[in-house]
Amino acid sequence: MKKTVLITGAAKGIGRAIAIKFSKLDYKVVINYNKSYELAKQLQSELLKENKDIYICKADITKKEEIENLVNFTLEKCGSIDVLVNNAGISKANLFIEDSIDEMNEIIAVNLMGTLNVTQTVLKKYMINKKDGAIINLSSIWGITGASCEVMYSTTKAAIIGFTKSLAKEIGPSNIRVNTVAPGFIMTDMTSNYTQEEINDFKSKIPLDRVGNTDDIAGVVTFLASDDASYITGQVISPNGGVVI
Ligand code: NAD
Repeated sequence: MKKTVLITGAAKGIGRAIAIKFSKLDYKVVINYNKSYELAKQLQSELLKENKDIYICKADITKKEEIENLVNFTLEKCGSIDVLVNNAGISKANLFIEDSIDEMNEIIAVNLMGTLNVTQTVLKKYMINKKDGAIINLSSIWGITGASCEVMYSTTKAAIIGFTKSLAKEIGPSNIRVNTVAPGFIMTDMTSNYTQEEINDFKSKIPLDRVGNTDDIAGVVTFLASDDASYITGQVISPNGGVVI
């Protein structure tokens, strides 16, 4: 029987690559989007050529009610949620002393509370009773090392690692695995505000001598969801070209 994956923020960037990879592996795929309806629709049409079980669902992951709808929609359409990928996230480069309370709350609401609320809803509505599942959370190398001028972003991404480790211990006995993928520099809209000079400078510090692409991350996510990773939980895997070892 086909398995189902729910991916948050999957209309573009890393989430999009993850959706394509799971579709090729013949999963039922639910692509969550918030504002990018056109991109989500386009991705769905593309994937439907090879896989009939591709769904899109709007939900702002900062809103509890929309999360409930997203999870209910997935269960109604697909009958299960075998894999959850908490990919949706935002970033903002700022000096910490210039971050307003509203900006701080926003990044916490999406990157941290969004991930926590989606996970809790999926666990309560399906995975705990099923006693099966894999959850993959997107963190960042900045969540491991910390980053100047991205203090709030790094804080939320570090919290994701703490969440992953703690939850892995709590729900391991229910046969649910939880892992984190902490990418290095990946070319997406999120990194599009970097100048070529800044990208070259970052690249010069990467042992594998290139910045990453979205497929570098998608492959790690599908591996962590697979049976080949059945003894891996609570771990942080960081595809970063060797810039953080
Ligand atoms: P992106 O901006 O292309 O994608 C982020 C996605 O999250 C978008 O589709 C956006 O619509 C969605 N999103 C934002 N707020 C949302 C909300 N409230 N509800 C639902 N969806 C929402 O960026 P990306 O680079 O593809 O980032 C994907 C994940 O990878 C993020 O969690 C990011 O922090 C992480 N990451 C990215 C990099 C990188 O270099 N690009 C590095 C490390 C970690």
